[in-house]
Formats: sequence, C-alpha cells, structure tokens
Amino acid sequence: MIKIKNFIPARQFKHNPNRFNVMSSGMGTQSNAIICMIHAGILPKPDVIVAADTEREASNVFEYQKKHIQPLCDEMNIPYYIVPKSQFTNVDLVQPSSGMTLAGYYSEWDGRKENGECRGKQPGYCSARWKREVIERFLNKKYGQSYLTKRGVDMWMGMSLDEPKRIKVTTGKWHRVYPLFEMMITRQMAIQFVEQYGLPTPPRSACWMCPNRRESEWLWMKENVPEDFKKACEHEKEIQKDNPHLWLTKYGVPLADAPLKSNGMDEQLDLVQFCDSGMCFV
Ligand code: SF4
Repeated sequence: MIKIKNFIPARQFKHNPNRFNVMSSGMGTQSNAIICMIHAGILPKPDVIVAADTEREASNVFEYQKKHIQPLCDEMNIPYYIVPKSQFTNVDLVQPSSGMTLAGYYSEWDGRKENGECRGKQPGYCSARWKREVIERFLNKKYGQSYLTKRGVDMWMGMSLDEPKRIKVTTGKWHRVYPLFEMMITRQMAIQFVEQYGLPTPPRSACWMCPNRRESEWLWMKENVPEDFKKACEHEKEIQKDNPHLWLTKYGVPLADAPLKSNGMDEQLDLVQFCDSGMCFV
C-alpha cells in the first residue's frame, strides 16, 4: 500500500531539465497519478502537459479532467492543453493509403471459433494517428520545430511497472521517458496514490467505441452512461456498412446483444498487440 506522507519511490525518475519536458497525458489512471505526484513535489514540473482529444473519448474521462486535474495544473501554473484531433489530422476511421480501418476491431473474416466468437482481431493504429501524431504536430506548431529540435523533447509517458512490453527505447528529438516505470510504480499503486491524494478513483481512459474496452467497462458504460453506449452501438452499425465482418466485441454480435460478463477480458487483454503505442489506457 502506497503512503503519500514522506513517500519515497523505490527509484528516482531521472529528469533532464535541458530538454523540453512534455507530460503526454492519456487522461487515464497513470497520467492522473503522475500529475498528482508533480503536485506533491515527488516529480519535477514539466514544461507543459498535453492530451489529445480523439473526439470519441468517454464522457466520464473529460469530467474527471475538468473537475480534478485541471485545477491542480492551474495551481502549479503548468499549462495543460487538451488538443482536438481534427485540428491536426484528417485521418479518422480509415487509413487513406490502405483503406484499412484504424481501430483494432474484432473480425470474423477468418471465421468463428466453435463457441461462435470471432477468430480475428485487427491491429490498432488509431492511438498513434489520433494521439501521438496529433500531440507532436500541436507541439511543433505551438513551440516551433526548430526550437524543439534544438532542445530535444522528453515525452513523459504513463506506462507503469506492470506494462514492460509497452516501454520503448527511443532516441532523437522525440524521446520517451517513463516516470512511473522508472520509479517502480504499478498501476494499482498509481490508483492508490490518486485516491490517497484525495481524488476519486480515476477512470481508465478510452474512446467510447474502443474495441479494447473490457467487458466490465462495457457493462459499466451501459448502466451509467447509456448515451455513450448508444453511440458505440451506432458506431458498430456504421463501420459494418463498409465491412460487415467487423465487431466491437469478441462475440461477433451487435454490442447491445453481446453476452458481456463483469469479469470478461479483464486479465488477458494484451494492449501491445492491439494498440500501436500512442497513449491509450494510461
Ligand atoms: S482508446 Fe481505443 S479506439 Fe481510442 S485511440 Fe485508443 S486504442 Fe484507439
């Protein structure tokens, strides 16, 4: 159990103030914990905090940012920008060059298993197109490419100790650093930190139509944010106009009819396989 009073991480985060430090917020659990740790003085202040708005983000994520995170950033005098994706890319559901859909939908193109579930799942590139590229273009526009190239940019990513497969070694202008991973903090510890900091349990960030959403999260949405659930059901019908083999859940039936279980998919989802590295779920 993490205790905030006199909290000393197992290892320190090595911060290079000569580079331009960007906290790349995914608006989820771990990102919120990082911002609380900055506020608590456990982490240094970055130059800026930026999040990309996919324009399909679940409404509870925005509410949490507005109510609990923005005031902390204001108090610390750190600029916090939430950047709408459509201002920095024309790419939406389909990759123009290949005609492939970008999100990692389930597919029965290769048939179904004996229990009727979809055999396939597409790789997901939406995170990179809708988040990483949007944030980089925003920063280039706001601060100038030559300034950022000269200083080099350290992008703080929210992956925690329990996500080693999502840690990538990068060099050059856009260099990724992982404060929670370096400090040996797990996702559960991040949740505890936020709660002990006096904030409500942070929601996991995800688009309302994300095919990587856990079954328990679909059920929660269905009950608590029915308007988001309805939008997801409509989205599934919309993508099926072009490709009738694509689905939002492994069951390969309309989302509203899917036999969702409260503990389904909670353990086995390997986001590395399905999410190309932007800043989702953290
Ligand atoms: S939350 Fe899901 S749908 Fe949204 S960008 Fe990330 S992987 Fe794609």
